[in-house]
Amino acid sequence: MSEHKDFLRTIVEKDLKSGKYNRIITRFPPEPNGFPHIGHAKSIAINFGIARDYNGYCNLRMDDTNPTTEDTRYVEALKDAVEWLGFAWNGDVRYTSDYFDKLYEWAIELVKMGKAYVDSLDEETMREYRGTVTEAGRRSKYAERSVEENLDLLERMKKGEFKDGEHVLRAKIDMGAANMKMRDPLLYRIRHAYHYRAGDTWAIYPMYDFGHCLSDYIEGVTHSICTLEFENNRDIYDWILETLKLEPPRPYQHEFARLGINYTVMSKRKLLELVEGKYVNGWDDPRLPTIAGLRRRGYTPESILNFCDTIGIAKANSTVDVAQLEFCIRDDLNTKVPRVMCVLDPLKVTIANYEGSEELDAPYYPEDIPKEGSRKVPFSKEIYIEREDFSENPPKGYYRLTPEQPVRLRHGYIITCKEIIKDTEGNITEIIAEYHPNSKSGSDTSGIKVKSAIQWVDAASAKKVEVRLYDRLYSCENPEGLEDLNPDSLKIVKDALIEPAVLLEKPDVRFQFERQGYFFADPIDYTDANPVYNKIVGLKDSWNKKETQKEPATQAKAQTKKVQTEGETLPMSERELALFTKYTAELKLNNMVADILARDEKLSSFYEEALLANNAPVTIANLVANEVAREFKEKERDALMFNGSQIAELAKMIDNGTISNKIAKEVFEEMAKSGENPSKIVETKGLVQISDAAVLEPIIDEIISKNQENVEKFKAGNTKLFGFFVGQVLKATDGKANPQVVNELVAQKLK
Ligand code: ATP
Ligand code: MG
Repeated sequence: MSEHKDFLRTIVEKDLKSGKYNRIITRFPPEPNGFPHIGHAKSIAINFGIARDYNGYCNLRMDDTNPTTEDTRYVEALKDAVEWLGFAWNGDVRYTSDYFDKLYEWAIELVKMGKAYVDSLDEETMREYRGTVTEAGRRSKYAERSVEENLDLLERMKKGEFKDGEHVLRAKIDMGAANMKMRDPLLYRIRHAYHYRAGDTWAIYPMYDFGHCLSDYIEGVTHSICTLEFENNRDIYDWILETLKLEPPRPYQHEFARLGINYTVMSKRKLLELVEGKYVNGWDDPRLPTIAGLRRRGYTPESILNFCDTIGIAKANSTVDVAQLEFCIRDDLNTKVPRVMCVLDPLKVTIANYEGSEELDAPYYPEDIPKEGSRKVPFSKEIYIEREDFSENPPKGYYRLTPEQPVRLRHGYIITCKEIIKDTEGNITEIIAEYHPNSKSGSDTSGIKVKSAIQWVDAASAKKVEVRLYDRLYSCENPEGLEDLNPDSLKIVKDALIEPAVLLEKPDVRFQFERQGYFFADPIDYTDANPVYNKIVGLKDSWNKKETQKEPATQAKAQTKKVQTEGETLPMSERELALFTKYTAELKLNNMVADILARDEKLSSFYEEALLANNAPVTIANLVANEVAREFKEKERDALMFNGSQIAELAKMIDNGTISNKIAKEVFEEMAKSGENPSKIVETKGLVQISDAAVLEPIIDEIISKNQENVEKFKAGNTKLFGFFVGQVLKATDGKANPQVVNELVAQKLK
């Protein structure tokens, strides 16, 4: 576990250390009145996570005290969610309804102690008597009833002699309490309703405030963790347990911030409205934030738990950007899933100069991912490409196929457009192309330059699949009602084409469809006759962040104050995440560099300043994340000898070959010390990179003649010695030789 404990774990540790408890017991206590959502996942992660971390137990308890809304179907969904997330509850599933007898006994005890009474005010008067925040309340005259009368009434309430709302049982606490919850809270109410487990046995049902603390006590719970809206209920929790003088140890309540996510809703009541009104297709609709929905969409348990970790546990409510959840699933799948090709909107391409067919070797994973595996991709005269990967009148910066511009077919050949075929309305129906026989991926000797590779499928072997594309459920960040639903949250593509290898896999697998996103075979609707894939998430955040500059949420602010220690990653704030996304998606920085910059406000602002002077995002980012970051650690920005535009200049000299990366470090050191411009430093110290073959060749020749033995070994097959020669040349030139040129020359000479 990480060094930095959240406040709940800090409390738990203290309580174990002080001997307050010998063993930790937590519980996850949902009301079975709907399917659990990702907010519940957070509660599950906290309660089960703490139990696991401290060798304790976590109970799963259905808080089923409201007969009119509960159902066994929801009980099953809750159990499924906990199991799917990888947790196991302690013993059997528990039910508050199993404790009804015991709870009733305690109620009688309170009455006998003169600490509870049956009130018979109508609802409106009762509300009026409660007072306001600034005014004390008034106690009902029924509070004067004798113990005997109260006992008699309570017994008859239980038996069902009264109508709903006629009487209630209240705790006798303090009608003038500053905490309004303490103004004689309700303990029981009359409900003539069939309970899904208790049947018709009871005509009264315990209120949350009475049932919850005592159920915790019955189960030996030590830490009763709930969300912030129960903060004021804590006084009742304590009052009941203390007043009943229960034998210790007793549980204590601790509150954390509820999870909210933008562009969606997160209460079971609102979700129920969407399901019942058929605005979505059931509780497991992949657009819903329910665990069942996320699961069906293709989210992994790991990604959800990771999300819960990255958002941390806070004491102030805030809304988390859904982009953060999407980031977590992308991050999880990136290293796990095979890349395959699927064309969503097929445009036929006939390759005029190709005859026959062949199978192309295609690795499932890119090189930077430590997984292996490949498949054969069939190729023949007719293929399909994505309609939007061809443009007759390309806009500036269009890198794909055009009448002038060839493109590479991923894992295959380069093709050139020869003719565009249109229907009578002018729609493009087919492209006639030619392939370049010596341009095959992996053995390309064609010398043709292309700017991108596109996905495609072979017409003869491709299979038709249905693809369901999901977008956000609501079109605004803080939806208020049904009118905010996003009408385009589901788009069904019936005639997508997929390469045949994908269909041979088991259905329960995820894929990256190249350049499209991550996809999952729909666990319900997928059949061999009609394969259906759900889009889990796109490859990058496609929702432009309008408000990247807005204040980070309170929660995030509190977290960024923590010091980051080795090996631990703190959650990113919204602002940091937005920067990270921009740096990786738009500026193409690698994750590590983007992470360093995004998490440090000083570095990111320095970086952006330098970018204004020279738009070389990658080179400048490397300098800032490595060299500048080091200086920043030691000095305040005002104490630095250099500014952003000098770093921009240094980057320019690297990019145009004036200096090598290695020399750049040396120049930077000097610049940090003296504040001199990099070009000046390079000039006075004579650090200009040597790229001229005429200068380098004699040096290389000399090294080769001095190291004949190694030359023999190299030629005999010890190819590792190549690096030795290059290193010698760099050494001989004080690191000024252009490594790329040296590489080429050494290769030539050792042939
Ligand atoms: P809802 O309004 O969605 O029905 P709830 O709080 O009524 O939520 P319960 O089934 O009573 O739902 O909650 C079970 C547990 O899950 C409780 O401990 C509750 O605090 C926690 N929980 C519910 N929603 C969230 C959330 N959005 N974030 C964190 N924890 C939550
Ligand atoms: Mg609820």
